[in-house]
Amino acid sequence: MTAIDTSVDLGAFIAGSAEPCSAPLQEIRDPATQRVVGRVTVSGAEEVDRAVRAAHEALAGWSARGVAERGQIVGRAAHAIRAAVDELAPLLTAEQGKPLREARMELNRAAETLEHYAGLAKELRGVSVFGLDPGVSGHVLRRPLGVVGAIVPWNFPTTLLANKLGPALVAGNTVVAKPADTTPLATLRMAAIMHEAGLPPGAFNVVAGRGAEAGEALVTHPLVRKVAFTGSTPTGRRIMSMAAADNKRLTLELGGSDPMIVLADADLGRAASAASMGRFFNCGQACLAIKRLYVAESVADEVIEAVVQKARRLTVGRGTESGVQLGPLHSERQRDAFEDQLARTLEGGGEVLTGGGRPEGGELSDGWFHEPTIVLEPPHGSPMATEEVFGPALPIWRVRDLDQAIEYANASPFGLGSSVWTSDLSAAAEAAERLDCGYTWINSATKVYDELPFGGIKASGFGKEHGSEAFDYYTDLKAVVVRARPGE
Ligand code: NAD
Repeated sequence: MTAIDTSVDLGAFIAGSAEPCSAPLQEIRDPATQRVVGRVTVSGAEEVDRAVRAAHEALAGWSARGVAERGQIVGRAAHAIRAAVDELAPLLTAEQGKPLREARMELNRAAETLEHYAGLAKELRGVSVFGLDPGVSGHVLRRPLGVVGAIVPWNFPTTLLANKLGPALVAGNTVVAKPADTTPLATLRMAAIMHEAGLPPGAFNVVAGRGAEAGEALVTHPLVRKVAFTGSTPTGRRIMSMAAADNKRLTLELGGSDPMIVLADADLGRAASAASMGRFFNCGQACLAIKRLYVAESVADEVIEAVVQKARRLTVGRGTESGVQLGPLHSERQRDAFEDQLARTLEGGGEVLTGGGRPEGGELSDGWFHEPTIVLEPPHGSPMATEEVFGPALPIWRVRDLDQAIEYANASPFGLGSSVWTSDLSAAAEAAERLDCGYTWINSATKVYDELPFGGIKASGFGKEHGSEAFDYYTDLKAVVVRARPGE
């Protein structure tokens, strides 16, 4: 077992400095052991106001720099995160619960996204129109929005923030981030590391507080011009109503219940591996996790057997131990909610093929662990089909054909991602057209590319992250008309 010596005390990060940790304090606990791994100052409206003002003061200087220079600075900050992965990953594992290997992957992925936007800085091009009238041309400028409030959940604290920071900073905005109250540690350290690498004071500030206090203070602050939110659908709706009062711009990356469809002509082995990985990484707590599996009847038994065997072979344990593939759920509240959804589902039917309970005995009883679980054919109207299930359980249904699979897939209120597994390209193309969601993978799943826009529809929100399209959500377009010969 790798011993991790983490007990850090951190205050808010405002105007380029880490503030001292002071009361009121919140203890941060390791979900695997319930041990205290750090303490942070609980920020409220006063800290949020200071952070927003610092971001506002930094705005003129930051947005006046050339876009290439901003890109270079963001690129250096990304490099510094990569160089600090050995320090940051244990912090992330300690506060979040994920295996150390996944924490390292997450941090490298956050750096990669920042590097992507740093690289795009020099490629930004606009639109010009000539001959609007004789001697008159039109130009479309992009202007930064101003101070961006970035609010993220606890499942991927650093990558979900990097998705916002990259385009926001490169486009010339400044940012105040609020991580979830249970996962502020890696983010606060990351902000300090990025500033040591050259980000100017005030460009990126972090407050650590609760949603109802710090979160709402950030959303409603008059100097915040845009809120970039990732989190649950009910919170997203609340933020939308608060932001309406001030006409704030919004991106809402909300919940998901991604379906995976496996047709009879698919590579069944690869599909089963993807289903297992896609459902169980981060202990099933991912917006784009595979949350419903629909398999063609003729191959269902084979796929079900393969997925069950994979679930049985997963090593459950503390994220700090080598070889662990499934850590604990993030919190007691999270495990209670997940177990409640499982119980309500099974009341209506369905067969538990493996798992279904908490692992027994030993040190696992100290944390919020749950066995990897496969449920066969729960009712289509049950919570596992209609709600977002944020935990390690995969429901599987047999389907007659692609039509029936798409009908079930689209019945969900969510519309984030989906995947289709088949060797028939026309079936894949048809599915990609008909599935109601923002991302469809064909013979692949869950990997998000920085090159492509990502974001859901329906209850999964609106707006895009990733892709050069993300710049559209951090800039305003302004039309400028130029008359070349003023006397005419
Ligand atoms: P949550 O909505 O409870 O909290 C998310 C963040 O919002 C936290 O920082 C929280 O403190 C803050 N918050 C809570 N109430 C607030 C309020 N009234 N005003 C302002 N801020 C407030 O979500 P969660 O349960 O912590 O996170 C899991 C959810 O996030 C899941 O639904 C998951 O699908 C979703 N998610 C979506 C994506 C995506 O890209 N679509 C990615 C990851 C997670």
